[in-house]
Amino acid sequence: MRWEALAAIALLLTAAPAAVADYVHDEDPPTGPTASGDEDQHPVDAYHTWETLTVDLQQLVSNNPGIARLHSAGESVLGLDLWLVEIANFRDENKTPLDERETVWLDGGTHANEQLGTELAYEWAEFLIEGYGENETATWIVDNRHTFILPLVNPDGNHVDSRQNARGVDLNRNYPVGWGALDEGRPPVGPGSYALSEPETRTIVDWWAKTEPDYVNSFHTGIELMLYPPGYEEADPADQQVYRRICEEIGEPDPEFCGPIHSTIYPASGGSIDTSYERFGSVSFAYEVTTEQGLYASIEDVRERLDRYWDGVEHAFLNVERYGAHPAIQDVSVADETVDVTIANEGYGDLARADVTIEVPGDASIEATLDELAAGNATTLSVELPVQAAEDGRVSLELAYPERQQAEPTETRTVDLPVRVEEGRLTVDADADEADLAAASVDETETNGVPGPGALVAALAVSLAAGVPRRR
Ligand SMILES: [Zn+2]
Repeated sequence: MRWEALAAIALLLTAAPAAVADYVHDEDPPTGPTASGDEDQHPVDAYHTWETLTVDLQQLVSNNPGIARLHSAGESVLGLDLWLVEIANFRDENKTPLDERETVWLDGGTHANEQLGTELAYEWAEFLIEGYGENETATWIVDNRHTFILPLVNPDGNHVDSRQNARGVDLNRNYPVGWGALDEGRPPVGPGSYALSEPETRTIVDWWAKTEPDYVNSFHTGIELMLYPPGYEEADPADQQVYRRICEEIGEPDPEFCGPIHSTIYPASGGSIDTSYERFGSVSFAYEVTTEQGLYASIEDVRERLDRYWDGVEHAFLNVERYGAHPAIQDVSVADETVDVTIANEGYGDLARADVTIEVPGDASIEATLDELAAGNATTLSVELPVQAAEDGRVSLELAYPERQQAEPTETRTVDLPVRVEEGRLTVDADADEADLAAASVDETETNGVPGPGALVAALAVSLAAGVPRRR
């Protein structure tokens, strides 16, 4: 029997809305941990229902308005709010602006009988919000990342402990990339009548379009695996190199544990992370965090119990800017009218190609090209600048590049170089040191290809931009 068929269903804990009476259930009989009779050790109210989740999230956010916002991202088939928690330091103007931060998206409960997925997502929200100012990691993440957490994608299913939504659709087969590529049942129990036929999946894709996450992780249960795209075809993802490096760095190098959906668990089409990755360029995982499904299980110490998955998500929070190409300025020197800029690729992925545009204020712009820069490599760009005619001023440099092989959006990086034009000569600022470069190299904004004109505040701008074909 496939693990996903292990659905403990038809256990009505909460009075479900009347419309749920027509629910389409899995045909397999209830199995699993629901058999436990020891309700003291496995309290029935241990897991969140949609109602308790609503209360807990509202409380969590209203107690911490400076770092958390609660959105009703959309509604389920039966009209229940899909709660989305947005977490960041909203008040401190000294912090990196929100639109320049790496964005992390976590969700759970797509299959509503996989309760620990919801609990892990909720636990992250609670850890970040309540840990702010108390826990060093939580504080750093809130100050430096923009986080969105949607703990219960399928609240209607939650009311009847079902995998599917209220129309019997498996939401994790209803996403557009690869939808229907594999014959996985017919409506209403399969992938839905068409891609994004369900309000729950439409809501999520709308929010991905709005938030452009750099990292997506969708929590499931039923087995223990760390999965990445694709599910709908037998292929490696375009950013296989990045995914392998992540698996290794989080201590899970076994490709039979941390690997593509199609070969690591089974082929599946229309899954959420194929869409988040291929359409939005997010490095995407689906964590299968426990064999447990169904109710009546303990959720004590979710963090401890699911520690390898907790650690995998934490690694993403702390390192996501390197989950792809990540060029950084390593060194700058000038001689006469030549400036040498050493650029290192500190990311996990190769920089495919870079078009370079240099602008000298009050003078012409200069174009150059950087060829492929493999992960871990560095190159020096030597550019002669006609500084005689240039205006005095600070030199800056802008990098715009495709962050991932799969990504459509282009990452843009603006750097204040410790170089200025003075009376027709290039000089390196005396007080410039490596700290300046390091600080400069993380000043990022994301655009869809074209750097904004306002980014070029000073004399020298280098733009890296490239349209990269998918590597398949
Ligand atoms: Zn699932």
